[in-house]
Amino acid sequence: MSKANGLPPLREVIARHGLNARRGLGQHFLLDGNLCDRIARAAGNLSQTHVIEIGPGPGGLTRSLLQAGAGEVIAVEKDRRCVDALEELADAFGGRLKIVEADALKVDVATLAARPRRIVANLPYNVATPLLIGWLRRIDAFQSLTLMFQREVAERLVARPRSKAYGRLSVITQWLCETRVLFNVDKRAFTPPPKVVSTVVALTPRPAPTAPAAFETLERVTAAAFSQRRKMLRSSLKGLDIDLEALPIEPTARAEELDVQDFCRLARAVAERTPAG
Ligand code: SAM
Repeated sequence: MSKANGLPPLREVIARHGLNARRGLGQHFLLDGNLCDRIARAAGNLSQTHVIEIGPGPGGLTRSLLQAGAGEVIAVEKDRRCVDALEELADAFGGRLKIVEADALKVDVATLAARPRRIVANLPYNVATPLLIGWLRRIDAFQSLTLMFQREVAERLVARPRSKAYGRLSVITQWLCETRVLFNVDKRAFTPPPKVVSTVVALTPRPAPTAPAAFETLERVTAAAFSQRRKMLRSSLKGLDIDLEALPIEPTARAEELDVQDFCRLARAVAERTPAG
């Protein structure tokens, strides 16, 4: 880690604050400044932007975001020990770093910063998917999401129909965002190393979803279809009471053969059969 701004090396910060990694918090710290800089660069032009970082830990990526010129970084961290360590960083960067001690699952992060907002994070893997689903629910609040996941989850986010990784998360994410894999990060880059390779993904919210549908209904339809992915739709969607014959979708098709537009058609058909209120 560079000593720019006279900051102490991250290993020293970790030792001084006793930040022995806690597995329950998905703590795998990135101490390689070049790698943190690479993630910050991947997030695009950060000046004039409010960057929301989830799980800053000892602050490696946080430093890179601030050094890359982020207008403001709002760092949401659950672990009190890390919050103490980050306060030193806040002093070094004047008013540009705001630390919020909170469980990111329980906070509407869009309320923490003005627009334009970008989320950048090396996510805690144990809660990465629920965090993402929460942000997708209000995707119009964000300009971009640059996120590190375990590789298997990243593959699901970008998976296309007829592939093994294609599933609920692929459909819902791609319905709302353009998705792109940026690069993999070797396990050995982390302290302590996780069991799996990590991947940085760029999610760019679409100006409008690829087709009309309600979030909850799309969730219900994809859950039903993919929970029995080897079954034909006429069987896996039985409980939803949709007239498949009335749609341009083969009742004998399987979930993985449908594209996002098809799932939106199914969601609209469910909504038509379930009057609101
Ligand atoms: N960003 C740091 C880095 O790259 O070195 C740490 C990344 S580590 C994979 C995940 C971080 O998320 C940890 O600092 C952990 O304490 C924090 N965390 C875990 N669960 C959280 C939650 N529910 N809300 C906020 N932070 C959380």
